[in-house]
Amino acid sequence: MKLKVCMIIYLIPYLAVAQPGALFQLKYGQNYTPTYDEVIGMYQLLDANYENAVLLKQGSTDSGKPLHLFIINDEKEFDAEAIKAKGKAVLLINNGIHAGEPAGIDASLQFADELLRNVEGKASLLEDVVVLIIPVYSIGGHLNRSAYHRSGQTTPYETGFRGNAANYDLNRDFVKCDSENAKTITKIFRDWDPDVFLDTHTTNGSEHQYSLTLIAPQPDKFPPIMENFLRSTMIPGLFSEMKKGEYELIPYVSWMYRDPGRGIKMTQESPRYSSGFAAMFHTYGMMTENHVYKPYPDRVKSVHQFIHVLYQFTANHAKEIMVSREKGKAETLKAKTHAISFELDTIQYRMIEFKGYEVDPNQISPITGLPRFGYDKTKPYTRQVRYFDSYNPVSEIAIPEYYILPQAYQEVIERLQLAGVKYYTLKRDTALKVEVDYIEDYSTPKQPSNGHYFHQQVTTKSDAQIIKYYAGDLLIPVRQEKIKFLLETLEVLAPDSYFRWNFFDNILDTREYYSSYGFEENAMKYLKGNPEFEKEFMEKCQTDSTLINNHRAQLGYIYHNTEWAEITHKRYPVTRIREKLPDEQLQLLIE
Ligand SMILES: [Zn+2]
Repeated sequence: MKLKVCMIIYLIPYLAVAQPGALFQLKYGQNYTPTYDEVIGMYQLLDANYENAVLLKQGSTDSGKPLHLFIINDEKEFDAEAIKAKGKAVLLINNGIHAGEPAGIDASLQFADELLRNVEGKASLLEDVVVLIIPVYSIGGHLNRSAYHRSGQTTPYETGFRGNAANYDLNRDFVKCDSENAKTITKIFRDWDPDVFLDTHTTNGSEHQYSLTLIAPQPDKFPPIMENFLRSTMIPGLFSEMKKGEYELIPYVSWMYRDPGRGIKMTQESPRYSSGFAAMFHTYGMMTENHVYKPYPDRVKSVHQFIHVLYQFTANHAKEIMVSREKGKAETLKAKTHAISFELDTIQYRMIEFKGYEVDPNQISPITGLPRFGYDKTKPYTRQVRYFDSYNPVSEIAIPEYYILPQAYQEVIERLQLAGVKYYTLKRDTALKVEVDYIEDYSTPKQPSNGHYFHQQVTTKSDAQIIKYYAGDLLIPVRQEKIKFLLETLEVLAPDSYFRWNFFDNILDTREYYSSYGFEENAMKYLKGNPEFEKEFMEKCQTDSTLINNHRAQLGYIYHNTEWAEITHKRYPVTRIREKLPDEQLQLLIE
C-alpha cells in the first residue's frame, strides 16, 4: 500500500503535463524511456482508474520482484477461464525481455492508455479479444540502467541491460527455464493459452529505411491448417494493414548475403526463443525488431502502430484464429511424424519490395580513417528483392504413444508441470519393454552459453530393452494438448531438447569401472561360464592389433562386451512406448 502512494507522488510530473483524458505523458519524444518504478506506477494508475483493467502479480522473477500482467477486458472480469469461456481470443504482448530494447515498453503503455480511453472507438473490439501485457519481463535487466549498455544505440539515453538479475539472456531461456521469469511466463502460457503472442525487440542488424521489422511465426513449424492461415491471411494481412499507416513493415532482415538487396530469408526460431516457444503451444507467436538506427520516437511509434494492427487483426479474425488453432492441435494429435530439423528452401522465393541503402564495402571510418563495411545513406533505393520464406524438414521422428520418465528427474518434471503437461504415475514397481536411445556421439563447446554447455551435434542409436521402473515414475501420453511441447523437449534430437540443455548429463560418464588386477577373478569366472564368448575373446586377442600383448585392453574387451558393461552409460533416461496400451493394461499400470 505504501508503495502505491509513493508511486502516485512520483508520477505527479506526468500528471502535470498530461493530455486531456490521459493519465500520464510518455517522454519517448525526448528520448527517454521510463524506469521500472515509473512503468509499474503508470500501469497502477490505469488499474486504479479503469474498472475493466487490472495489474496482477503473476509469480516471481530473478530480481525478487513479481512479474506483472496487465489485463484489458471489456468488463470487470479477469479470470482466464471465465474470459475464454466467452469465446474471446487472447493476445499476449511481452516487453523488455532485452531491457536495452525498450520501445515496446513505451508503445504498450501508450496503447493501453488509448485502448482504455477508447481513442478512435477501438475499445469496441474488446468484445472479441482480451489484451494481456507484460509491462517489463526482464525486471532485473531494466533496473540495471545505464547509458553504456548498448554500444550500437544512441537513444534512449539510458536503458536497461541485456542480462537479467541472474545474468541470463531471457530470450534463450524459454525451454531450459533457468530463470524464475521463464517459469512464470510458462505458467502464463499454460493458464491463458494465448492465441496470438508478440515479443518486442530492437535490432542492430543491417541498415535499411524501415523503423520496424517482423519475425513472423514460421509457417512450416505449424500444422497444415495453421500454416495455411499464416501464409494466406495472417502474415499478408499484418503487412498490408501496416502499409496503410505511417510506418511500413518489412520482414526481419535476416541476411543471406551481406547486401540485403541480394536476398532476405525468413527467420526460423527454435523453442529457446520466445516465438519458437509460442509455437510449441500452437500459438501464433512473433517478434517485432525495431531498427536501432532510427530515432527512438520512430521506433516507439512504429511498434505502437504494429500493436494496434495486431490487436485489430486478432479481434477481426478471432474466430478464424481460434478455430485454426483448435483444428491445428487436432492435426498434430493425428500426425505420425514430427519434423525436428529444417533447412531453408533456397529455390523457392517470392519478390518483395525493399527500401534499402547501397552497400559500401570500403567506407572510410571517421574514427580510424580505415576502410570498413558500411552503407551509403546518400544512396537509398527501392528494389524488388528475393524473399526466401520456406523451410523443408530434413529430419523427422516417428511420434510414439508414451514417454516414460523416471521420477528421479525432478527438474524436468517441474518444467513439464509448468507447461501443463498431463501424465500418469506408475502405481507399483514394474518392468516394461521400451524403446531406448543411446547417445552415440555429441559435441559440447568449451565455453558455456547462457549458463549451459549445450550439446550440439548429437547422434543416437535405438534399442529395445526391458527396464525396471518404480512406483511414482511418469508415464506420459504423447497425444495430448501439449504434444508439441513434449516432442520438442523430450525427443533427444530435437533442437532445444532437455538433453541438449544438460538436464541428463549424469548419464554421460560411468559410475563403475574395472581394475587391471581386481577384475580378473570375475572376468575368469565369466569366461568359464560363457564358452562362446571365451572363444570369440581368444580369437580377438590373436587377431586384433589393439589387443595383442595388451593386458589392459584385453580385460577391457571383456568388460565392455559383456554384462559387466554399464548399461545405463549414455542411455537416455526418457524411453518410449510406440503402441497405444489397451485400457485394461493401462489401468493395471497407473494410479
Ligand atoms: Zn532483443
